Amino acid sequence: MAVRITDECISCDACLSECPVEAIVDNDTNPTEEDYYYVKPESCVECVGHADAPRCAEACPTEGAIVWDMPYTVEFNSYYLDGHENGKYKIRINKKKEVIMTPDQKEMPFKEDISMNLRESGANIAV
Ligand code: SF4
Ligand code: SF4
Repeated sequence: MAVRITDECISCDACLSECPVEAIVDNDTNPTEEDYYYVKPESCVECVGHADAPRCAEACPTEGAIVWDMPYTVEFNSYYLDGHENGKYKIRINKKKEVIMTPDQKEMPFKEDISMNLRESGANIAV
């Protein structure tokens, strides 16, 4: 990750088609089984290399529905693994390797200009 979709999401569908890496799924296919949209943290690239700001957040009409999360890097491996185990995330399992695709398997790009304070506090993405 990453960015995260919260329970403020109204399932309006504006974000889904905006994602350049197909990291967003709708409420019907949210793997955490919550009734709102979901960003796959193991797929989100924070739009690095695609746009100056997260495209999903630019499209979202709902304050607080898409927020910053921690970088999907080895430093935050335990954070994402714990989240996977407690149901906050549902990280993809590579069936061939039989591993959960946590950051120690594959790190993802992240916006280095976003402070850890904003990320830790789950701040709304201002675009
Ligand atoms: S920040 Fe970009 S890559 Fe990540 S979910 Fe949003 S649109 Fe997709
Ligand atoms: S654009 Fe915002 S409110 Fe609409 S589905 Fe996406 S996260 Fe939810």
